[in-house]
Amino acid sequence: MERTTSDAIGKARLLLEIRKAGVTNLRILGVMEAVPRDLFVLENHVDHAHDDRALPIACGQTISQPSLVAAMTEALDVGDRGKVLEIGTGSGYQTAILAKLCRRVYTVERHRDLVVAAEARFAALRLHNITTRVGDGSLGWPAQAPFERIVVTAAAAVAPPALLDQLSVGGVMVIPIGPEGGDQMLCRIRRDKNGCHREDLLPVRFVPLIDGGMPADAG
Ligand code: SAH
Repeated sequence: MERTTSDAIGKARLLLEIRKAGVTNLRILGVMEAVPRDLFVLENHVDHAHDDRALPIACGQTISQPSLVAAMTEALDVGDRGKVLEIGTGSGYQTAILAKLCRRVYTVERHRDLVVAAEARFAALRLHNITTRVGDGSLGWPAQAPFERIVVTAAAAVAPPALLDQLSVGGVMVIPIGPEGGDQMLCRIRRDKNGCHREDLLPVRFVPLIDGGMPADAG
């Protein structure tokens, strides 16, 4: 089959999977259709870019499963005026989805090589409302706080206190919580004037959020 035809079929099938996973928001479905996932995967995985599964990327990390990216985005309930903080840029796929839905995305990643590659993809897609930083995301981004929305794409043992501090009152954080390689739960934390309230959404499996200590390529 010709490449473009099989691509179109693969993409249509993927959108069906995303709907089956319970995502109904039309804006989010439209953006999932618009952002080319093949641009975010390694060259030797391009044939699987439209499969609904996580794939390996550089630095031993993974690009998340598309239906989960869509579900996390829906759970985050982003508006087009809000400022979003993302922890764990990885390939930049979730970042690109968010950038199409909100005013500005601040994204932190501990591997410089991943940030450099993600920035090239944002430029190719003409996404100019993303600010990147190499660093320990568990500390958040104090200079830009507070954030209306925070999404963490790596699993933490507990919600990092700095991130809870930097969530605005009325804000929402979506974060996988649980041990590395063990039972993790995708949680939504809402902050109101009385404090933070946690709600469990679904079981998930993410790479760990590394606390402190930067890798050699952090520069
Ligand atoms: N949303 C990404 C998923 C990346 S996987 C995508 O769809 O491609 C999670 C990422 O979190 C990895 O790239 C990992 O390096 C990063 N990470 C883990 N601990 C971190 C920390 N403390 N600070 C910043 N990034 C971290």
